Amino acid sequence: MQLPYLITIFVFGAIFGSFFNVVILRLPKKESIIHHSSHCPNCQVSIKAYDLIPIVSYFILGGKCRNCKQAISFRYPLIETLTAVSFTLVYYVYGYTYFSVIGILLASLLIIIAMIDIDTMEIYDRFQIMILVLAFGMLLISPLPLLDHLIGFFIISLPFYLIAYLTGGIGGGDIKLIAIAGLLLGFKATLIAFFIASLLGGSVAIYLLITKQKNRKSLIAFGPYLCVGIYFAYLYGNQIFDWYLNFFS
Ligand SMILES: [Zn+2]
Repeated sequence: MQLPYLITIFVFGAIFGSFFNVVILRLPKKESIIHHSSHCPNCQVSIKAYDLIPIVSYFILGGKCRNCKQAISFRYPLIETLTAVSFTLVYYVYGYTYFSVIGILLASLLIIIAMIDIDTMEIYDRFQIMILVLAFGMLLISPLPLLDHLIGFFIISLPFYLIAYLTGGIGGGDIKLIAIAGLLLGFKATLIAFFIASLLGGSVAIYLLITKQKNRKSLIAFGPYLCVGIYFAYLYGNQIFDWYLNFFS
């Protein structure tokens, strides 16, 4: 029975998600991640250990600080839940294998990258380097030929680079991310990652045009959609690609 394992991974993910909240909030402000205990951003009172249970505490507190009653951002339980669900899905797909280890580390980095990108429109190189390390780990265990991974590095990033060079329209961080993730994924899954990202980003862009919310610039950054695409491509990219080919042949 797999259920006890899935529940364990979910809890484990929620705890990590709660740590990612701290990283996402403090890194762009250059605050220490390890020192300072968690405190309310409004009244500065440090938060008691029993109010730091991932996902659960937010609802017990009714979304308010216990001390000053200031509303707590819904992002905290959201990121905790997102991390928990993404870890669980990786384990559900890959089980007790090295692919799950790489998948869980990849999901962690993608969540942090996406959220910091939404806040600051920047993708930090240190996280790109960590994904590169994962990509090298992947090369050791991948069932795909090495050439698939090498083509993956260039297949989207090279056209992106040329477009950016000609128009200046695409951020350098996005290009690096799809290159490095492409090395990790192999070219089939990289194409799927890009397809998912374009579909999501395009839909949101159209929605913003229709509802005339042009000033919501954070939603137009491509990085977060790319992160979602890379995550699902890691789980299902090669299957989707093969299914697509079979469908049209
Ligand atoms: Zn407070």
